[in-house]
Amino acid sequence: MTTTPVTCPSCFQEFEVPAPWPDETPCDVDYDCEVCCRPMRIWFELDDGEVTGTASGLGD
Ligand SMILES: [Zn+2]
Repeated sequence: MTTTPVTCPSCFQEFEVPAPWPDETPCDVDYDCEVCCRPMRIWFELDDGEVTGTASGLGD
């Protein structure tokens, strides 16, 4: 299991989330921030062979 850093859209803290396998990308998952516990959606995609995650808030 690899992890990738994302930045929370609510509290702007960076933390590591478990990354999906490259052949499962692109995909998005719902995740709760480990710092402020707010829900977010993380979009995972493959960038140069590495899975990267981009977090966005829900409902906007
Ligand atoms: Zn947060």
